[in-house]
Amino acid sequence: MALIVQKFGGTSVGSVERIASVAARVKQHRDQGDDLVVVVSAMSGETNRLIALAREISDKPNPREMDVLVSTGEQVTIALLCMALHEIGCAARSYTGSQVHIRTDSAHSKARIMDIDRARVRADIESGRVVVVAGFQGVDEQGNITTLGRGGSDTTAVAMAAALEADECQIFTDVDGVYTTDPRVEPKARKLDRITFEEMLELASLGSKVLQIRSVEFAGKYNVPLRVLSSFEDSGAGTLITLEEEGVEAAKISGIAFNRDEAKLTIRGVPDQPGVAYKILGPVGEANVEVDMIVQNIAEDGTTDFTFTVNRGEYEKAREILERESAELGAREVVGDNRIVKISLVGVGMRSHAGIASRMFAALSEEAINIQMISTSEIKISVVVDEKYLELGVRALHQAFGLAEESTA
Ligand code: ASP
Ligand code: MG
Repeated sequence: MALIVQKFGGTSVGSVERIASVAARVKQHRDQGDDLVVVVSAMSGETNRLIALAREISDKPNPREMDVLVSTGEQVTIALLCMALHEIGCAARSYTGSQVHIRTDSAHSKARIMDIDRARVRADIESGRVVVVAGFQGVDEQGNITTLGRGGSDTTAVAMAAALEADECQIFTDVDGVYTTDPRVEPKARKLDRITFEEMLELASLGSKVLQIRSVEFAGKYNVPLRVLSSFEDSGAGTLITLEEEGVEAAKISGIAFNRDEAKLTIRGVPDQPGVAYKILGPVGEANVEVDMIVQNIAEDGTTDFTFTVNRGEYEKAREILERESAELGAREVVGDNRIVKISLVGVGMRSHAGIASRMFAALSEEAINIQMISTSEIKISVVVDEKYLELGVRALHQAFGLAEESTA
């Protein structure tokens, strides 16, 4: 007999009918003998509706009251789900975050979980009940209601699983697992049976639609096996996100992530002196613009070209800052391009296999795709290319690394 934490997201509990079908699914699993803790989100659209209500009253609603408001969405679903469970003869009890003492810091709307009181939940489990917990919310030291950030129910589920030392945390959602890449870009994308926490974090640009990233970090830190499954189809085992398994040779490459929201800026002809990188990036950081890739090259005339990427939404802002810096530093010019994308190859197998980068570059060159920037980490190689090559590039790499077939490579 196992202890499983199951989480159902907004669309899975989006109507009374769907809540009833979640109840049926929970009962079916419970009847097989496992102990269950179920975490639910608000009904789909509900959190947005509550936020819109607040905005009708105030442009800057008080953060404490905002959390009191938005946490109500989940309170509705825990009660309805328990009623639906009772209707089909399954003992269950609902709890809000503060009732099970999901203790957080006081950072309203983005609180972090510090501690969970497991005694109450354990007592219910021991008396044979399914425990239903409101996702997304907690309570601070002073008893104020807090929330964990949009999509935070995933983190509630993982935190419950960690606190209760559950055997697995299952996230039921509207996709049936994690794919080698976005199936809308590459229809041959394949569902992965398993993937490591690290890889999942690197695939964030694909995975963030599936899981709140913070929940994956949390699961990795406490080693909570995390499974993504469809709540609509009985589509098998989904994708298991877990630690790297010793002794099992990992696939070289797990997936291809991409990001369309990229822009790059170059400042040319910067005097090659100590402190220049700081002078350029200092003000950019102070303006809260996040910098991703950075490349610096020394030209023959003793000046340097300095290029970096930022989020496309912050391109204009970063460019203005750079124009100012350029004048001050006596640089030659600032040029930029906000029609670029980043494509990344991700896989823990990279650590133990050589030649991955050259295979990647060969595949792109065969399609005559020009690489503008490259960066690498232990389990990831990223390239920046013109946005018109996104689809072609992703498909070429998917093909080159045999990701469509059940690969044993
Ligand atoms: N209801 C919250 C939201 O929409 C939390 C969640 O769904 O995970 O962000
Ligand atoms: Mg969600």
